[in-house]
Amino acid sequence: MTFQRPLRLGMVGGGDGAYIGNIHRLASRLDGQWQLTAGAFDVDPERGRAFATAQGLDPARSYGTWQDLIAGEREREDRVDAVAICTPNFTHYPIARGLIEAGFEVICEKPLTATLEDAVALEALARESGRFVGVTYTYSGYPLVHEARVRVARGEIGTVRTVQVEYPLEWMAKPIEKQGNAQAAWRTDPKKNGRGGSIGDIGTHAYHLAGFVTGLKLQSLTADLATFVEGRALDDNAHVMLRYEGGARGLLWSSQVALGNSNGVRLRVFGSTGSLQWFQEQPNELVYTPLDGRVQIIKRGADDLSEDAKVRTRTPPGHPEGYLEAFANLYAGFAEAIRAHRQGREPGPLGRNVPLAYDGLKGVAFVEAVVDSAEAEDQPWITPVAV
Ligand code: NAD
Repeated sequence: MTFQRPLRLGMVGGGDGAYIGNIHRLASRLDGQWQLTAGAFDVDPERGRAFATAQGLDPARSYGTWQDLIAGEREREDRVDAVAICTPNFTHYPIARGLIEAGFEVICEKPLTATLEDAVALEALARESGRFVGVTYTYSGYPLVHEARVRVARGEIGTVRTVQVEYPLEWMAKPIEKQGNAQAAWRTDPKKNGRGGSIGDIGTHAYHLAGFVTGLKLQSLTADLATFVEGRALDDNAHVMLRYEGGARGLLWSSQVALGNSNGVRLRVFGSTGSLQWFQEQPNELVYTPLDGRVQIIKRGADDLSEDAKVRTRTPPGHPEGYLEAFANLYAGFAEAIRAHRQGREPGPLGRNVPLAYDGLKGVAFVEAVVDSAEAEDQPWITPVAV
């Protein structure tokens, strides 16, 4: 049996007016590895079916609910290969569990779940069932993030001493959750979002990025959370100090109220013989400074980059690539990982180092530890249950 046809993609959530679902659709299309085939796109079944029709899906595969999608797809010979979950956090667990139990592979948005209990259960289910569960930690799709990872692993900056990682946003500097913004409304509702506001929504990206590039394992953390917008139920700004195994230190900042920052994901890793810096708003450049202080700009697409960076690069240097291409790299990686598993072979470089269920669990455990530390009076150092 060959799997070189495009994989059939189902989608839950991501309907009319939603944010990330459209990014998934665009990204999954870019390399021709996936074909959107079925969907239950909206919490409102009628709206969901109408949206599916507008996407050109077969009406028989335009479902009102995710339960209908599972029931409709599971007995088909041409069933969807994987289903992307693009819904608010609290729905990830029941949907993912239903899909895995019905034998589907899953691509789940971050944070993996809204609670630690659900994340532990979902990771165990993924492991025991053998089903693929990829998690869309977007920033690990960038070629120069992979390049940074390879260079740290090769020892090009020596022993990592300190990691500074931040994800500042500005879009929630006003109480937009009370002014009709659908995305902000569920993100500020602890029952739908989970316990961590900015730290759950974007701190999880920053935490994953730092661990992905450095390979460092967290030992413990202590955190200070703040809610600056009056009446908001969750943090909109977080400062977290990190201690890694082996002695490295880290500082993580996530903020939804940092005026002047659109999507300012920034990673700086300082080692004993050099440093690496990457900023997602200039994603085609990685700044490398060796011990002699001569700053070098490493450009995406250059000939001497690692294979891991090259396989995630589509255009020559100078033609900018960005967010959609990074997201597409995750989708291409998920396709390769699923195909390799089905064909009983090792995945090629695109399918290696893709974020999986355990990475999702680590993110949720991180949020839990951050909130526990911040809520305790003396802000203790805490070790997350999964690192
Ligand atoms: P959103 O509010 O814009 O969209 C949610 C969509 O899910 C809507 O279409 C809604 O109708 C649908 N939905 C809700 N419950 C449903 C259900 N039971 N069945 C079917 N559809 C349902 O949310 P968003 O901003 O797109 O965020 C969605 C998820 O993506 C969140 O988990 C968020 O953390 C994550 N996200 C990730 C990134 C990233 O960079 N990877 C970026 C943004 C959002």
